[in-house]
Amino acid sequence: MSSLVTDYVQNFIGGSFVTANSKETFDKINPATGELLCKAARSGADDISDAITAARNALPKWSATTPVERGTILRRLAALLEGRASDMASVVHLETGKSVAEATGETGGAVEQGFFMAGEGRRLYGRTTTSAMPERTSMTIRQPVGVAGLIIASNTPIANVAWKVFPALVCGNTVVLKPSEDTPMVAWAFAKLAREAGLPEGALNVVQGFGAEAGKPLVESSGVDLVSFTGSSGTGRWVAETAARRLAKVFLELGGKNPLVVCDDADLENACSWVLLSAFSNAGQRCASTSRVIIFDSVYKKFREMLVDATRKLSVGSADSDDLGPVINLRQLNNIIDAVKMAEKQGAKVLVGGRRVETGALAAGYYMAPTLVEGAEPTAEISCKELFGPVASLYRVKDLDEAIALSNSSDYGLTSCIHTSSVHRAMEYTLRVQAGVANVNAGTYGSEPHMPFGGVKNSGVGSREPGTEALDVYTEIKNININTLPGMA
Ligand code: NAD
Repeated sequence: MSSLVTDYVQNFIGGSFVTANSKETFDKINPATGELLCKAARSGADDISDAITAARNALPKWSATTPVERGTILRRLAALLEGRASDMASVVHLETGKSVAEATGETGGAVEQGFFMAGEGRRLYGRTTTSAMPERTSMTIRQPVGVAGLIIASNTPIANVAWKVFPALVCGNTVVLKPSEDTPMVAWAFAKLAREAGLPEGALNVVQGFGAEAGKPLVESSGVDLVSFTGSSGTGRWVAETAARRLAKVFLELGGKNPLVVCDDADLENACSWVLLSAFSNAGQRCASTSRVIIFDSVYKKFREMLVDATRKLSVGSADSDDLGPVINLRQLNNIIDAVKMAEKQGAKVLVGGRRVETGALAAGYYMAPTLVEGAEPTAEISCKELFGPVASLYRVKDLDEAIALSNSSDYGLTSCIHTSSVHRAMEYTLRVQAGVANVNAGTYGSEPHMPFGGVKNSGVGSREPGTEALDVYTEIKNININTLPGMA
């Protein structure tokens, strides 16, 4: 067994692995098999308090370490993660049920994020500029915010850890990370590598547990200067309201109901391949997944047929030869099935899927068949609510204006995409769509490690992570003015 796998996931506080103060644990189930994978520390407010104390104690030294030195340590951590990528991918595979190939790709993304952010240690740029005053230098510098409380979702667990922990640390903050209760082991394994890389004690702390028991006190604690949250919009709203009461800095990466438009001049084969990937990879558990396919009238019938045929051929399972794995837990599987049933009740038609996969060994896991729905009203629940599963709805529109209007009719605004051969349509769409990411002839996907990702409306609060824009989340900017001629008033 790899040293990154355990049957008991502990907390990581002040450089040591410890049980929850209560000694309580919870069960983590492997969603591919329905079997117990491990037990994890069931933490509460006192464990969070211990972690915040450790982070606060470590803050003066870590924030005073030069950014270049912090980057050097983080580069070592990224290199360790790269060296142990196949072990980490196994953990991701066990915890999420996604294939090893998919988990390996995700781990590679986390490594790249690590290297990119480690490099920021040498680039933590400010500005120097002119002044209206003679003999004065005016500049900005970036400084750490303080103790960062990081709360993440389970869908791409190692990427989610990397997206927040690397920028938070390179900027000189110390961290209390609360991973999803559905993926405790990935964060535990990451902490092991961080210790091996020589990250000082207390710079990174990991507290396992449920949102209501461990996440809530992290958001509420006055010992936390910055709360960075990735999860559902409902929880995100509560996080923002709570942190705002004490005017803590808040950053939110939330849900999506992402549109992909197929125009009448699109390469339909290409569009079809991208819809399959965008809607069904990672079993649709992506904030960026395509859940609304908006198709021009004149190609609707043809494209629908292509898509239904291709969806029927997708293979469900956890092997590298499969196209999509299970959803993360039974509650989530039941929610998705209920939402599809409700859509049918409200007049929509299920073209393919719409049910749990219960053939052979898959019956024990939480597998949802890739599902296409048509005929849902744009205002129906399935058109508005994020399902976070392998379900996409098809809509017909007469032209680009209608496609843009329908794209923008959502409360969300995370990612978007248009398939067209017209440069004019591509520009019109990308300029007018209300989304943080707009793609052409591609899929609805997250950004690369060096590019900003985030959303508008209910998808976030306008800041971006990762890319250099993440530095704005994890630093405070100070304006320094120096009058260089003594005696000038
Ligand atoms: P969730 O909101 O239920 O949970 C996310 C995290 O918040 C978990 O760690 C959970 O334990 C914690 N949490 C729950 N209640 C809390 C509370 N009261 N206080 C503090 N923490 C609490 O979301 P989920 O279902 O686990 O994740 C799926 C959601 O995450 C989807 O909406 C998806 O779109 C979103 N997501 C967004 C991005 C992005 O970058 N925009 C990336 C991944 C996932």
